[in-house]
Amino acid sequence: MELGFVFKSGAKNFEKIRNLFSTYPIMPDIILLVSLEVPRACAGEQAKSGDRLPEISSKYFMTMGVLVTQRESNPYPYSDSNKRYMTYDWYMKRRFGGKAARIALDIGCTCPNIDGTRGTGGCIFCKNGSSSAMGESLDEQFEHGKDIARRKWKVAGFVPYFQAHTNTWGDPALLSAAYNHAAVWKDVLMIALATRPDSISEELTGSLVRLARKVPLIVEFGLQTSNDKTAARINRCHTWAEFCAGYEKLRAAADKVNAECRDELPADGREIPGLRMKRFQIGVHLIDGLPGEDAEDMLRTARDTAALRPDMVKIHLLHVLEGTQLAKLYESGDYEPMSREDYVRVVADQLELLPPDAVIGRVTGDAAENELLAPDWCVKKTIVANEIDKELYRRNSWQGRRFCI
Ligand code: SF4
Repeated sequence: MELGFVFKSGAKNFEKIRNLFSTYPIMPDIILLVSLEVPRACAGEQAKSGDRLPEISSKYFMTMGVLVTQRESNPYPYSDSNKRYMTYDWYMKRRFGGKAARIALDIGCTCPNIDGTRGTGGCIFCKNGSSSAMGESLDEQFEHGKDIARRKWKVAGFVPYFQAHTNTWGDPALLSAAYNHAAVWKDVLMIALATRPDSISEELTGSLVRLARKVPLIVEFGLQTSNDKTAARINRCHTWAEFCAGYEKLRAAADKVNAECRDELPADGREIPGLRMKRFQIGVHLIDGLPGEDAEDMLRTARDTAALRPDMVKIHLLHVLEGTQLAKLYESGDYEPMSREDYVRVVADQLELLPPDAVIGRVTGDAAENELLAPDWCVKKTIVANEIDKELYRRNSWQGRRFCI
């Protein structure tokens, strides 16, 4: 999908439109300018594909449509729009030939940070209560999710996403049966599951290896921060060293599978230089705006994450949800959420530091509006994403520009 503007206007509005674009720092994918009257001074001139918006002037007004695209002017290679980082959508479309809709599933797992194994109470931001899928079987959740997705998009297939709580924490035989059940659903392109790095047993690692041989798999680890002091403050109950140990163990298993199974070709059969389509991928989730952290802490987490060479990174904003420990801190004035301006700057910095070939699964969080206490700006996710695009454009920068091993 491309984002564009169409203007159908007479010459009298020309100044207004020109002024609008001259102050707008990011280029949409397409601008179609249609003028019924040609200003006398500019008849016969045309815009070139890739012209920068601030340079748009009367000469671009034509009696016919004029197409201006920034594909050619975006230096980031894994994009066909104004995005200067690798969106999940772009990657999945290249890999599977169309939209891959994630369907969130709840298989009733708990978490070692809730059940007392590592801690109690959970992370201070975690809403560790019931999920909207309560009472539905796995098949019902999937069917329900597919219906919603199909109403929104034309999809190529689905990615069952074992999302609620820690999805490798429980009886390995039952967990494995659930993953394998999902793997044979019709139109499943890939399996995704979210977990902690300290919660995958040897037995379950073996099951994941066998699963990945059948169907592409991504395991996503919550890191949130590499700063142990912050991790303690948010009651994460694992350290950076423990995270790395869990990550490396699964990485070794994943690498084995990836060495046996050749990378898939993109859907159109054309390889994309520098881009891997691995069978068994590992992702890392980060959170910006954790209590007590400044921009430098968040950038250190991005650098530490980059050094692990994950296949996917999700960047979330810390938002305050009703009923959490964080809500108490917020209400007592001991926690202040990030401003949108700071968040945009930090995310742009982090994208510059991350590997250029890592899929960016998210650049902001997804808070349920009826539970959200703060910050209110985060519900407008499109605006946040646009601001990040603008910031990268303003810097003439892109994902991985400052990545170094
Ligand atoms: S690890 Fe995940 S599920 Fe467990 S308490 Fe923290 S946020 Fe909640």
